[in-house]
Amino acid sequence: MAGEAQADCLFCKIVSGDVPATIVRETATTVAFRDINPQAPTHVLVIPRAHYPDAATMAAADPGLAADLLREAGVVASEDKVDGTGYRVVFNTGTGAGQTVFHTHAHVLGGRGLEWPPG
Ligand code: 5GP
Ligand code: ZN
Repeated sequence: MAGEAQADCLFCKIVSGDVPATIVRETATTVAFRDINPQAPTHVLVIPRAHYPDAATMAAADPGLAADLLREAGVVASEDKVDGTGYRVVFNTGTGAGQTVFHTHAHVLGGRGLEWPPG
């Protein structure tokens, strides 16, 4: 069924607590934790508890969940105090765009200057 936990999914294991992570925020529908290989002073991943392979699939199946994720990205930026200087919310989608974990995640990046366009 859509959204069900996948046994072989790293981020489902972070949601269940089977894989440890530095969690910064949790809600009924989302979990936010620090990226293990940070690319900026603030680099937090915000994920839905439910498993969807990418952001568009999640948004199509559950628009309210997509809204929860985006709202949480903003709260994380605010709590890390990077909202004043600016931050970036990124959904890598597909291997060609750098997606390596196929459980929807928003990267929240901030705390340094961010070039545009990205590399
Ligand atoms: P993607 O490349 O799919 O857009 O992003 C996956 C992100 O997950 C990467 O930035 C990577 O550093 C992070 N990551 C991979 N494995 C782990 C892990 O076990 N724990 C944490 N906290 N982050 C991870
Ligand atoms: Zn998953």
